[in-house]
Amino acid sequence: MIERARVVVIGGGIGGCSILYWLARLGWTDVALVERSELTSGSTFHSAGLVGQLRNSLSLTQMMMNSVDLYRTLGDEVELETGWREVGSLRLASSQEHMEELERQAAWAETFGLPLHLISADEAQSMFPPMSSDGVFGAALLPSDGYVDPSQLTLALARGARQRGATILTNTRVTAIRVENNRVRAVETDQGTIECEYVVNAGGIYAHEIGLLAGVHVPLVPMAHQYAITKPTGLARDMPTLRDPARLVYFRAESGGLVVGGYERNPSVWGLGGIASDFNSRLLEPDWDRFAPLYEAAISRVPELAEAEIVTLINGPEAFTPDGEFILGESTVAGFWVAAGFCAHGIAGAGGMGRLMAEWIIDGQPSLDAWALDSRRFGPQYRSRDYTLVRTDEIYATYYDVKYPGHERQAGRPLKVSPANARHRDLGAAFGEKSGWERVNWYESNASAGDESTRPDGWAGMLWSPAIGAEHLACRANAALFDESSFAKLDVTGSGAAAFLERLCANGVARRVGAVTYTQLLNPRGGVECDLTVTRLAEDRFRIVTGTAFGNHDGAWIRQHLEDDSVAVEDVTSKYACFALWGPRARDILQPLTECDLSHEAFGYMSAKEVNVGAVPCLAVRVTFVGELGWELYCPSEYALRLWDSLMAAGQPHGMMPGGYRAIESLRLEKGYRVWGSDVTTTDSPFEAGLGFAVKMNKGEFIGRDALEAAGEPTRRLACLVLDEPRSLVLGSEPVRHEGRALGRVTSGGFGYSVESSIAYAYLPVELVEPGTRLSVGIFGRDVGAEVRAEPLFDPGNEKVRT
Ligand SMILES: Cc1cc2nc3c(=O)[nH]c(=O)nc-3n(C[C@H](O)[C@H](O)[C@H](O)COP(=O)(O)OP(=O)(O)OC[C@H]3O[C@@H](n4cnc5c(N)ncnc54)[C@H](O)[C@@H]3O)c2cc1C
Repeated sequence: MIERARVVVIGGGIGGCSILYWLARLGWTDVALVERSELTSGSTFHSAGLVGQLRNSLSLTQMMMNSVDLYRTLGDEVELETGWREVGSLRLASSQEHMEELERQAAWAETFGLPLHLISADEAQSMFPPMSSDGVFGAALLPSDGYVDPSQLTLALARGARQRGATILTNTRVTAIRVENNRVRAVETDQGTIECEYVVNAGGIYAHEIGLLAGVHVPLVPMAHQYAITKPTGLARDMPTLRDPARLVYFRAESGGLVVGGYERNPSVWGLGGIASDFNSRLLEPDWDRFAPLYEAAISRVPELAEAEIVTLINGPEAFTPDGEFILGESTVAGFWVAAGFCAHGIAGAGGMGRLMAEWIIDGQPSLDAWALDSRRFGPQYRSRDYTLVRTDEIYATYYDVKYPGHERQAGRPLKVSPANARHRDLGAAFGEKSGWERVNWYESNASAGDESTRPDGWAGMLWSPAIGAEHLACRANAALFDESSFAKLDVTGSGAAAFLERLCANGVARRVGAVTYTQLLNPRGGVECDLTVTRLAEDRFRIVTGTAFGNHDGAWIRQHLEDDSVAVEDVTSKYACFALWGPRARDILQPLTECDLSHEAFGYMSAKEVNVGAVPCLAVRVTFVGELGWELYCPSEYALRLWDSLMAAGQPHGMMPGGYRAIESLRLEKGYRVWGSDVTTTDSPFEAGLGFAVKMNKGEFIGRDALEAAGEPTRRLACLVLDEPRSLVLGSEPVRHEGRALGRVTSGGFGYSVESSIAYAYLPVELVEPGTRLSVGIFGRDVGAEVRAEPLFDPGNEKVRT
C-alpha cells in the first residue's frame, strides 16, 4: 500500500491501464492504479477485441489511429504479446443507402489520412471467403484496422506503466473519495487511504457509482452485449474483420472459427439497481432469445453459420452513454476526472484515449479537439437515471442505422420547452432537439410560401421543407421572429468581474454599460475554447450569451478560472426567454410597442438597453446572427408568451414570418458567421478562423495572447467556397481538393437562399484562400467544382446591420 500519489486511477481495465501507461510515458511516474479485483476482470476480459478506426470526426478518428499506432509497437516495447493482428476491416453496403454512406465515409477517411478504399462485392468476398455477396452493393476496406487480445493488451499496458515507475494495486477497492472545498484530496480504499491531487474514474460500468462517491453524476448505462464464438472449421485467422450494418452484425476470425456479434434492436439494460460488489471475472447468462434475430441475420450473410456449432455465447455488460460517445475530462469537482462509457469501442479507443487523457491532465488541455467526448457536454437532466436510460437505449438500438443530416432523436422528448412552445405547435413546428430543448427547425405552415424546386439533391434534401427558404427570404425581405429561449445565459457579477473577464476574453469586454461585445475565450495554446457575446449590464454585472449546447462547457471553463470570491458566476438560462426579431422591418414592428427610441442614433448596433415591449420588461440587445437589423429580446420567462403574441401580432402586417433554426443556419452561412464546434474549435486560433477582428492584442494580458503572438501569421485559414452546382450541398467533413489532392475539409455548409448558392466553409492553406481559386469538393464520390469567394457573400458592407 502507498500513502500518496500525484494521480490515482481507479479501475484496472483497458481504460485505466492505458491512462496509467500514458501518464508514466509522458513523465508523470508518481501515479498509481487501484483495482478492486484483478486487472482485466471487468468488461475488458470479455471483449470481442475488434479495432476499427474510422469515426465521424477528425479528432475521434485521430484518437483511434493513435491506438493502432500504439498497438503495433507495444508488444515489442514491453516484451509481452498483445495479440495485435492488423488484418484490415471490411464494411459492407447491403443497401443503396449504406453504399452512399460508405462513399461519404471514404471521403472523410481521405481527409483524416486513413487509407480506406471502396471495393466491389466480389473483392470483399475474396477477402472474407465465407461471406455471401448477395445483395452487396460494395464494401469499404481499411487495411490498418484489426483485432487484438484485450486482456493481453491490458497486461502489456500495465507492464509498460510499471516499467516506468507507476504503481498498480490489485485487490484494492475504493470505498470513498475525499473532497474538500470542491477539490479532490484522497481516495480511501479497503487497504488504506491514498492522498492525491488527481483521481481518474476509469471504472467501466461501475463509473457511475464511483462518481457518486465524489458527488459526480456520470451518465452511463450498463447494457448487456453479446457475441457467439463458433467451433473452428479451418477458416483463415488473417481474414479482415467484417461489419454488415444493414444486418446489425459484425464478424472476426477466431482460432479457425468466427466471432459473431451485433447490436440488437431490443437492448438489454443490466445492473441499474446496483451491481454486485463481487461482479468480477464474470459473465451474464446467455440470452438466446435476444441473440436469435442477430444470428439469423448473420447466417444470411455467412451461410455456413447455419451449420456451425456455437461453442459459447458471451454475454457481458458494457457501459453505454446517452450519445454514443466516450465521457472524458474533468468533472465539476476539481481534480476528479472521468474516463468511461466506451460504448463497445473501449479496446479500439483505449490507446489514443489514454494518451489524450494523460496530455489533458498534464498540460491542462487535450491536444485534440475533445468537445464530442467532453464530460461537460451533458446537462443536469442526465442526473436522472430514467432519462439517461431512454436516451442510451435509443443510441444502442439504432447504432448501425444510416442517419440522414438533420436526423433528430426521439427518446425522452419533450423535456425542456420554451414558454411559447404551444404557439409553435399551433403553427405546425417541426421540432428539433438540442441539449434537451425543443427548438423549432421550421414551421410547416410556412411551407406553402416556399419553393419546392429548391429542394437539395440527395441526402441533404431528405429532412427538408420548402418552409426553410420561405422563412429565410421573409427575414431578408421583411422580418422573421425566432424563438431562441434555449440560448445558454450566464451572469458574471461582482467587484472583480470586469478584470476577470478581461483576462479571459480576447476582445475588450469591460466597456461602457450597455455595450455588447462578441468575443472568444482562448486556451493557453491560443485555440478557441468558447465563442460568445458579453453584455455589460452594470459596472459589476455582465451577461454572457452562448449556444444552447455550450452553457455547461463555457460555464465550467469560466468557473475554472475563478480565483477569489470577488466574482460570481450564475447560470440564468431558465430565468429568461429570448425572441429574436430580425429583418429590415424589425424597427417598424418593434417601435410602436415601446417608448424606447429605436433609431440607429439612439440605439446603436452592438448595444443593449432595458426596455418595455408593451407590458413586458425586456433586455433588448441589438445584435444579429443573420445579418439583418434587429434585436434579441430577453424577458423573464413568465412574460414570454405575452411577448411572443405581441410580436407576432405586430409583425404580421409587415409580412413577418415566424422562423426556425434551419433558416438561421442558411442566413448565417451567407454572412460567414462562425459556429463553435464545427467552424471553430479548441485547436483553431481566432486568426485562422477569420475572427481576428475580435482579438485586441494590445489590450494587455489575456489567456492565449502569448500563444497567438508566438504563432505569428497563420498558415491556414477558414475560407468560403461556392459550389458550381447549387443543389449539391455539403454535409460536413467532405474533402476539399486542389489539383486532385485533398488539402482541406468542410467544416459546415448549406444553401444560401438569398445568394442562391451552395456554400461551404473549409480550412485551407493560405496560398489557396485567394478569391477566385478553383477547387473541388468530394460529395458522395463525385468531385463538384467550387470557387473560393470573398466573404461574406451577403451584404459585405454590413449596411443592413448598421442602419
Ligand atoms: C461482449 C462485448 C464485446 C465487446 N467488443 C468490443 C470490441 O470488439 N471492440 C472494442 O473496442 N470494444 C469492445 N467491447 C467494449 C470493451 O470491452 C470495453 O469498452 C472496455 O473493456 C471497457 O474498459 P474499462 O477499462 O472502461 O472497464 P472495465 O474493463 O470494466 O474496468 C473497470 C474496472 O474498474 C474496477 N472497479 C470498479 N469499481 C472499483 C472500485 N470501487 N475500486 C477499484 N476498482 C474498481 C473493476 O473491477 C474493473 O476491473 C466489448 C464489450 C462487451 C461487453
